[in-house]
Amino acid sequence: MVDLPTILIADDIALNIQILANCLKDDYRLKIATGGKQCLKIAQEEPYPDLILLDIEMPDIDGYEVCRRLKNNLSTTDIPIIFVTAKQELEAEEHGLTLGAVDYITKPIHPAIVRARIHTHITLKIQSDKLRAMALYDQLTGLYNRHYLLDISQNKIARSIRYQQPLTLLMIDIDHFKRVNDEFGHPAGDTILKEVAKSLQLSSRKEDVIARWGGEEMVVFLDNCDLGNAMKKADQLRHNIEQLMPLEIKITISIGVGLLDEGETDISKMLKRADLALYNAKDNGRNQVVSQ
Ligand code: GH3
Ligand code: MG
Ligand code: MG
Ligand code: MG
Repeated sequence: MVDLPTILIADDIALNIQILANCLKDDYRLKIATGGKQCLKIAQEEPYPDLILLDIEMPDIDGYEVCRRLKNNLSTTDIPIIFVTAKQELEAEEHGLTLGAVDYITKPIHPAIVRARIHTHITLKIQSDKLRAMALYDQLTGLYNRHYLLDISQNKIARSIRYQQPLTLLMIDIDHFKRVNDEFGHPAGDTILKEVAKSLQLSSRKEDVIARWGGEEMVVFLDNCDLGNAMKKADQLRHNIEQLMPLEIKITISIGVGLLDEGETDISKMLKRADLALYNAKDNGRNQVVSQ
């Protein structure tokens, strides 16, 4: 079954909901809220809405305030909002649009026009989701990309300094991967890369950022983790990959571990130390973890 885009309809009057639902139910998955509070709650529940149709006059929290709160919340700020309201005045429309709504539709609605406008905004939303995903993630492995890692590193380093918590970085490189490609072909190499990435993800915590650094190199950021614990964690990852046998092929990784040193405010030196440690791991015979 094709996954339909999700629309959240928020209105305090059942008949209004019914009219909108009738005109959209064949093309979208619909979620319903009968007030402002409920709308704010449902907007944060999976499946997240791709669009919200928002009434203005509602008894608990009015639509303007709901819109303001949704736009101020990082997890809902990108959901397009269309006001659907009985308020005809131009000032009301202008106010709604300045709050960040993408469109304003007055009741009584014309189903064909409503459908067309909604289709346009949903298409834009899906396109922008795709672009955002491309900007953050590596296409082959689904891990974060290098660009995102560098972006988030500033954040992680600032937090580590503020809360005086250690921050470590693992630089991971697949051993003799050129040989793997040469012997089994590039498509097999791609599959192995994906499997290795999946294993790293499965054996990490949600807050550990894992990124594809380039080629067959990956980087893991470990929050609030000192060198000793990072070494243990890295050895676990190394061990898991050694056992993985993707496509029945024995694969091993080498890992260099670097710690953010006092006084450092960016990732560069930490990366260099992890890279140097990785080089030593390779030099010492691979399939091992070495710290800075
Ligand atoms: P070492 O143990 O010293 O790391 O040896 P290595 O062969 O892994 O290192 P080298 O840097 O010489 O080669 C890396 C190889 O990784 C070369 C390249 O073909 C392969 N590679 C990089 N990116 C991809 C990819 O996206 N898909 C596939 N299949 N192979 C890739
Ligand atoms: Mg109302
Ligand atoms: Mg390499
Ligand atoms: Mg390699």
